[in-house]
Amino acid sequence: MYFNRESVIDLKKSGLSVREISKKTGISKTTVERWLQEADKVIVSHCPVCGKEITYTRGHRPKKFCSDACCVKWWR
Ligand SMILES: [Zn+2]
Repeated sequence: MYFNRESVIDLKKSGLSVREISKKTGISKTTVERWLQEADKVIVSHCPVCGKEITYTRGHRPKKFCSDACCVKWWR
């Protein structure tokens, strides 16, 4: 069976750990972790200073600016 990013995400949703997914699919743990991290990111808004997309990672506080530099610019 061929496993891709979607199958890795599905396996994670079904409750498997990164190690179990890696064992089952033969994909390295590092790759599995990276794919899951990327899947967790969603674009929530755009930076009001430079217009760059701001991604929100689950478990983290959503940011208003893309970077600290833009935050400083905004308040100046
Ligand atoms: Zn910005």
